[in-house]
Amino acid sequence: MSESTIAVVLGAGTMGHGIAQVLAVGGYEVRLCDLDAERVDAALVKVRANLEGGVKRGKLEADQLEPILLRLTASSDSNAALEGATLLIEAIPENLELKKRVLADATAQNPGLALIGTNTSSLPVTEIAQATSTPERVVGLHFFNPVHISKLLEIVTGERTSEETLALALEVAERIGKTPIVVRDAPGFASSRLGLVLGLEAIRMLETGVASAEDIDRALELGYRHPMGPLKTTDYVGLDVRLAIAEHLHAEIGEGFRPPLLLRRLVRAGKLGRKSGEGFYRWDESGKCLGPA
Ligand code: NAD
Repeated sequence: MSESTIAVVLGAGTMGHGIAQVLAVGGYEVRLCDLDAERVDAALVKVRANLEGGVKRGKLEADQLEPILLRLTASSDSNAALEGATLLIEAIPENLELKKRVLADATAQNPGLALIGTNTSSLPVTEIAQATSTPERVVGLHFFNPVHISKLLEIVTGERTSEETLALALEVAERIGKTPIVVRDAPGFASSRLGLVLGLEAIRMLETGVASAEDIDRALELGYRHPMGPLKTTDYVGLDVRLAIAEHLHAEIGEGFRPPLLLRRLVRAGKLGRKSGEGFYRWDESGKCLGPA
């Protein structure tokens, strides 16, 4: 893919704004789209704040900031955005039928897309790909939250993903400075499956009064040198997102992934973690943790 590659990111939520940011930093011309115009505006504000933070921490030169922002545009018109694009990454909600429909529409609208990435955390890449006219160009590009900081990119190859597509995906990873792992399409891939085991068990431990949220997290942070405990990680990911993944893995793999009642109760109450201000912890509007809920 050349210098002038146009990349479209669909979905400007928790993940989409970060994916758009790292692509713009990597030199792509990025068009970020969301159905919700408020999300579009909020995403641009977040990207600017992240980049300014990068300048303060010495990760980015101050004079790089404006050129990066100029490479990033955002709108709620995905049809216009897709015109002339060769790279597409979707970061819309974790819903199989929705992802299938949106990618089928996008590939019909622009058959010239060379690489179609889905940021699904757990859904079958092969099935998403089958909904499009070019399944060989579809690959899982599973980013981690927060995207601009996490080093990992999990590349998930579907049954029909071509060697060329995998090569393009590896090229994208290199250009945006992520370390790729290549995983075959299997429920939860490598990362979500392992992350869920810890996350769900931690919630069950909290539910049955084994320890406080903070102490459960400290067990892994201090005992096993995890940078963040499983409950705080769940707050970062979003409790609704984790619940959706757990339901899928429960159906595909079995009992070990049954979602705990506490997780369902919190999601029903709108306690979705960092993005809603409360989950297992409380969070202020800037995303700073205020302590256990
Ligand atoms: P989110 O709810 O924060 O954002 C999704 C956005 O997609 C919303 O702003 C919504 O308005 C928009 N959207 C819905 N339909 C759309 C459409 N047709 N076109 C354009 N925009 C549309 O969700 P998220 O947490 O960013 O998750 C997105 C995807 O990334 C999911 O598949 C999720 O499993 C995956 N993921 C999430 C995390 C995480 O930590 N949150 C980590 C890795 C992967």
